[in-house]
Amino acid sequence: MAQLSPMMQQYWKIKQRHKDHLLFFRLGDFYEMFFDDAKIVSRELELTLTGKECGMKERAPMCGVPYHSCDTYIARLIKKGYKVAICEQVEDSSTAKGLVKREVIRVITPGTVIESNMLEEGTNNYLSSIYYDNKNKKYGVAFTDISTGEIHITELQKDVDNKIKNELARFSPAEIIFNSNLLNNKEIDKFIREKMGCSLEEVSEEEYSSDENVNIILRHFKKDSLSMLSMENGSVSQKALGAMLKYLYETQRHGLEGLVNLNIYSGDQYMRLDITARRNLELTQTLRTGEKKGSLLWVLDKTKTAMGKRMIRSIIEKPLINPMIINKRLNAVDELMSNSIRLSDITLALKDIFDMERLMTRIAYGSVTPRELKSLQFTIEQIPYLKQLINGFNSVFINDIYNDIDTMEDICGYISEAIADEPPAQLKDGGVIKNGFSEELDNLRDIVNNTKGVLTSVEAKEREKTGIKNLKIGFNNVFGYFIEVTKTNIDMVPQDYIRKQTLANSERYITQELKELEHTILGAKDKISVLESQIYGAVRERISEQIERVQKTANAIARLDVFVSFANTANENNYCRPNVDISGTISIKEGRHPVVEKMMGDSLFVSNDTHLDCGDNQISVITGPNMAGKSTYMRQTAIIVLMAQIGSFVPASSATIGVVDGIYTRVGASDDLASGQSTFMVEMSEVAQILKDATSKSLLILDEIGRGTSTYDGMSIARAVVEYIADRKKLGAKTLFATHYHELTELEDCISSVKNYNIAVKKKGEDIIFLRRIVRGGTDDSYGIYVSKLAGIPSEVVNRANEILANLEAGNPVTYKGNSISKSKNDSDDSQIMLLQADDSEVIKRLKETDIEKLTPIQAMVFLSQLKELI
Ligand code: ADP
Ligand code: MG
Repeated sequence: MAQLSPMMQQYWKIKQRHKDHLLFFRLGDFYEMFFDDAKIVSRELELTLTGKECGMKERAPMCGVPYHSCDTYIARLIKKGYKVAICEQVEDSSTAKGLVKREVIRVITPGTVIESNMLEEGTNNYLSSIYYDNKNKKYGVAFTDISTGEIHITELQKDVDNKIKNELARFSPAEIIFNSNLLNNKEIDKFIREKMGCSLEEVSEEEYSSDENVNIILRHFKKDSLSMLSMENGSVSQKALGAMLKYLYETQRHGLEGLVNLNIYSGDQYMRLDITARRNLELTQTLRTGEKKGSLLWVLDKTKTAMGKRMIRSIIEKPLINPMIINKRLNAVDELMSNSIRLSDITLALKDIFDMERLMTRIAYGSVTPRELKSLQFTIEQIPYLKQLINGFNSVFINDIYNDIDTMEDICGYISEAIADEPPAQLKDGGVIKNGFSEELDNLRDIVNNTKGVLTSVEAKEREKTGIKNLKIGFNNVFGYFIEVTKTNIDMVPQDYIRKQTLANSERYITQELKELEHTILGAKDKISVLESQIYGAVRERISEQIERVQKTANAIARLDVFVSFANTANENNYCRPNVDISGTISIKEGRHPVVEKMMGDSLFVSNDTHLDCGDNQISVITGPNMAGKSTYMRQTAIIVLMAQIGSFVPASSATIGVVDGIYTRVGASDDLASGQSTFMVEMSEVAQILKDATSKSLLILDEIGRGTSTYDGMSIARAVVEYIADRKKLGAKTLFATHYHELTELEDCISSVKNYNIAVKKKGEDIIFLRRIVRGGTDDSYGIYVSKLAGIPSEVVNRANEILANLEAGNPVTYKGNSISKSKNDSDDSQIMLLQADDSEVIKRLKETDIEKLTPIQAMVFLSQLKELI
């Protein structure tokens, strides 16, 4: 330590408090990283690693980034899961005595980002805090997006492990802090590490349970008691929230005033959707590529504002189960649709609304730029018109929006008075505060402007006095103002000029008068920049006091944007309003898959009906050849139910949707190789989970269960699963069950609630045509061989397969060139030899005879085609 240079000592002291963070150490116009931090950052960002004298024998490894473009570098590090501590010079370097004081002003972590260029516009960025009480098997969970100012908290009891997984899947946080007890829960620990893929931070039990956290909560929400927040001291949710706020104050230090939207919710108000169902139904991203394109969100999202984009995503992640609220949403969408002119006016007006939510956070934090502040004004200017457009609707929810929108003329007027009409990008560029806003500032600006005028007149005067026509007054940073005279005129320079600098073609001078003028101008300029930044700070402060009003309005606009988006999507895609009730019946006429129909482009999507109820139509067993459309049909039904329950119109000609409490899916082979589980194991554990979690009010989508094992095994499991689901005492959930075991169609005869369906295909000679139409009844034919033919399997193989099939169906032994397969199976060695011996066909003979080395390429081609003709 003692060896280190003073600055390095300062660095080292600060670094000790930020061991887990990359320390960005401000040095003039750069942030510098040293030692291991420098190695990591240079490697991750591909920056050059240099060294700096630090007082020791070896130079300290070092790399750096310019401070004005640090955002992109930091964003990349955060994306890679690092946490960055920003250490600033906290006193003016020009006036500081000795070493400039430095302090960490903020730690940026994946869950605490507020910079717009580090965030995705349409996606919330959540930090989550989990408190696990392992004795009472209870969870307290808090989620916050500090860039938008929202906090959600809930407590989970009973069947907690599943619930916590669902909550995490719903919010998909960028960062989780948790108490150490959570690690004892191996299942959750594993889920978080493997499925969430986010940054994790363990926080000690003491930190979670500290009494100080209660004070932090009370101070933050400006309340006298926890009961005013409907919260109990020592409850798991209080602990989760307390530790989260503490973490935020430690990392952010300030600017958290906007974080006041506390939403205490119960997971029971939403449809249960586990992470598998969310992925399988491709709600916000596709299974294969993880892109938004091709997801339900992609079809539904026609929002115009960033706030609306985030909200529609969260609405899709949280389908409701209360038909009253769902119908209120549908009423809003319906009424917008029947007012098409207003709908298009509102849509247009929404386009001009800037991301007020995140902007306000930056205002509160103090990092807002003058231009951003101005865009808040432009946005607010649009609001009265927008508000007037939604006046007089019948819909309760639209009226709520109307009432929640604050036109905020005062804020808008204030920015307009204070900030220049076209402000510069940065405060330090000057000219941010409008003329007329501050008398003091105006006076100083007058001085600068007047002296500029005086300078021009001095120039004129000196020209006249000396007779030097090209005499010029100029300015540079080293000498200040000067008079410049070209070499040819030097003999005309008067006595009182003081020479300052000699250039190739000219000489530069100063005079007493010029020196005095310079003093006034530079003094005033300095004062202006100090004053401007003071005023700017005050303006920002005053607007940030209004944060709750802005957030409330932003939220209302987001809701409107979502309803408008639903209405526009429904119009464009020809959706119908679903009847949402508690009938327990799902009845869809001419339903379509919203995404597949969009992706198909010109070709026609064939619509299909669905009918499921709690009586005779509880389970549909769906058979049909591969590629017939079974999976599409089942997902389509699930997605239509989900769309109805978020309050959207649906792709059908009519639909009655009795709300379901959860959708469970088991679709396709999601091979989980990374965790060392086989496909079949994954499949079975998913089925186990579904049978455990689902209720009689749930909707189950089971696609090809039992495929991953041998035929009899698989068929037996599949059948037992259907029997279990059908039993109302055990489960009784509405179920779509696709299977390639057409033997399962027998179930219709023994269980009254099971009905058989198949997706029709038409035989046309040897070929089949997919009709994509679902009809009653089972198939007795799997058409697998037809499909193999379609896929281009050689006709020889296809014909042989047909032959084998015919034998198997007739119960005959399958023979191979006169030998029975079962016989040759007993002696595999023998059968291999026999295979070779048996193959003395013409082709083999020709091959044996030919010396390939002697063939030219052309001859080889000809030979090949001759062989082909022989088969
Ligand atoms: P299966 O599960 O029966 O093997 P899929 O559901 O995967 O069949 O459907 C196969 C393909 O058929 C899909 O990729 C889709 O392009 C097309 N398809 C499915 N259903 C329809 C439909 N109703 N109308 C038009 N094309 C469809
Ligand atoms: Mg399928």
